[in-house]
Amino acid sequence: MNWKIPSVERADSDQQESANMRLESSIRDIKGIGEKAEKNFHKLNIYTVGDLLEHYPRDYDEFKDIVPISSVKINQICAVEVLLKTRPVMNMKSRFKVVLADFYDRTGTISVAWFNMPFVAKQLKMGTSYILRGMVSEKKGKLYISQPKIYSKNEFYKNVGKFLPIYPLTMGITNNQVKKAMEFALGECDDLKEFLPSEIRKRYNLPIYSKAIKGIHFPMSVTEYREARKRLAFDELFLYQAALYAIRNQRANKSEYVANQDIDALEFSKTLPYELTGAQKQVSSEIISDLESGYVMNRLVQGDVGSGKTVIAEMAIYKTVKSGYKVAFMVPTEVLAHQHYQELSRVFESHGISVCLLVGSQTAKVKREIKEQLAFGIYDVVVGTHALIQDDVDIPDLALVITDEQHRFGVRQREKLSEKGSMPHILAMSATPIPRTLALVLYGDMDISIVGERPSNRLPIKNCVVGREYRPTAYKFIYDEVKAGHQAYIICPMVEESEDSELESVVEYCDMLSEIYGDRLRVDYLHGKMKPVEKEDVMTRFGQGDIDILVSTTVVEVGIDVPNSTVMMIENSERFGLAQLHQLRGRVGRGGSQSYCIFMMGNTSKEGRERLNIIANSNDGFVIAEKDLELRGQGDFFGVMQSGERPFLIADIFEDSDIIRYAAEEVKNYDFESICSFYEKNRRFRERLEYYMGNVSL
Ligand code: ADP
Ligand code: MG
Repeated sequence: MNWKIPSVERADSDQQESANMRLESSIRDIKGIGEKAEKNFHKLNIYTVGDLLEHYPRDYDEFKDIVPISSVKINQICAVEVLLKTRPVMNMKSRFKVVLADFYDRTGTISVAWFNMPFVAKQLKMGTSYILRGMVSEKKGKLYISQPKIYSKNEFYKNVGKFLPIYPLTMGITNNQVKKAMEFALGECDDLKEFLPSEIRKRYNLPIYSKAIKGIHFPMSVTEYREARKRLAFDELFLYQAALYAIRNQRANKSEYVANQDIDALEFSKTLPYELTGAQKQVSSEIISDLESGYVMNRLVQGDVGSGKTVIAEMAIYKTVKSGYKVAFMVPTEVLAHQHYQELSRVFESHGISVCLLVGSQTAKVKREIKEQLAFGIYDVVVGTHALIQDDVDIPDLALVITDEQHRFGVRQREKLSEKGSMPHILAMSATPIPRTLALVLYGDMDISIVGERPSNRLPIKNCVVGREYRPTAYKFIYDEVKAGHQAYIICPMVEESEDSELESVVEYCDMLSEIYGDRLRVDYLHGKMKPVEKEDVMTRFGQGDIDILVSTTVVEVGIDVPNSTVMMIENSERFGLAQLHQLRGRVGRGGSQSYCIFMMGNTSKEGRERLNIIANSNDGFVIAEKDLELRGQGDFFGVMQSGERPFLIADIFEDSDIIRYAAEEVKNYDFESICSFYEKNRRFRERLEYYMGNVSL
């Protein structure tokens, strides 16, 4: 590797100079964080004050004033000032202890439910007025607030008008705890130095760093939030571009692994039960010639969901293994690892290519055995999750690393893999369609292949956008599809441990469906908090057709392939980003039968419907990505951030396409050394740059 980040003396001595709180200080220095809380913060990867300050809110709660019951809005957080109408009752029948009570004001009544808080029943008194704040819903024509917080007037009015941060959390940490810690750290830490040259800040109207950090956590207005966000996104993208630029300037690397020209990968494809599409043939021939070229391949294959990327990877594997080398196939989730493992074992069995699996949920003994076997060259292909394969596996003659559904794979990771060998070829496969202009900026250092055609046996998916009144019809429709021999997905929003867990969880939804369908249909569920073995079991049963309806969170988003499923219904679909909806929808329409996608809206707004109509009217991921970019550029700044793997802490390649272009322009005005010197005083930013050097595709 001939690029290097110019080394800078690290200012460790600074640390002793002042006793003030610094970015490197441990979070234990924060008031209120003791041993136990510290452990929980570690689970969020927060070790230092600097880590904490970069734990950005995932959303904001705009604290609005009290409204009369007659003007509350369904699916929104509202505050009402009310009196008890009836004495609270405790419902012991359900799994939780539920306190139920009716409240009223001059304009109407509203029912309230508190779960697992039996003490509330005793606190509430007739004749006293309460301010209750929580998510409003409607069931059977009645208004509900579930799990509202009870405020005193004083407390309530202190918050009105503010945007309160909502943080990503983990078990054992409350939002309030993070918020308190953040307030303390912002007050005490005087280490938020400016590092961006002032000419750049002026050109793009960026606030100074310390102001941006405060503004992102506790914005006093939408404008302040936007400016803060813009600045922080700029920082990330500027550094990212600097890393890309430095890498791009390096010459191509010679490879030790030159594939044997006599091996015909098309020969392998003849054993498949279908004809390759033109796009599949084209892209695999590009890959094959890279593998034969004598230079290290660094190729990104972009193809819409269902375009058949797996078989392209299989051809590359065939070519490599038959040339006498080994392959690692890395995926982001265990479920996907199992699926690919099964698929590859099946396909390659008759070709004498052996495949093994390496995932976190295997026992230590099994993992150790597999690693030993890999070191001895017993397997040709290892399929596993990124972390594991990168970790400490020694694979002699590893010539090809394939990453699926993740478009970034960096020098650092690659170094890990090739520590004992030399640089393998990299094939990254991604189903996230990125508009071309952006792809050029983001992946300018990679060769890009596009699989721009789907297998011709596919019928286009039929879509509809509907409101809740359509739900009974939808259930009937799903029933009929299942009776016709197919399977269905129902997607609910994430199971989250947030304070106001307002969303129906997949488990409850599944119970509800089982009640509706009785034993006529087999319903089961899948969510991210399940143990890997449980997930695996559910996916296997669904794959074998032993489950008719799978109720799931977005964990099914990534790459799952069950061609017999023909219906997907997405609950509260207005909460998802278009690109994500498109990914989800890609789970159906994978076989020869007509497939359907029902976008159920929990909240009917005109804009919501318009946005969903875009996706209902197109099945082309690239078209949707462009539209998403257009739309999101215009606002919706407080929209719920998408979960899952995020390449940046705050920047969003769709939302911030302008900033990406600015940053790419700016980077050209400085040489790499001077960019490093902007950051040299700031260790955290140097680390970030190093991180990008290790993470940008190379
Ligand atoms: P993705 O690009 O989303 O990873 P997959 O590789 O999982 O797509 O392919 C989706 C489905 O299409 C699989 O069931 C696969 O067997 C099938 N398939 C792939 N290529 C073809 C083809 N040329 N003709 C028919 N079916 C195909
Ligand atoms: Mg795939």
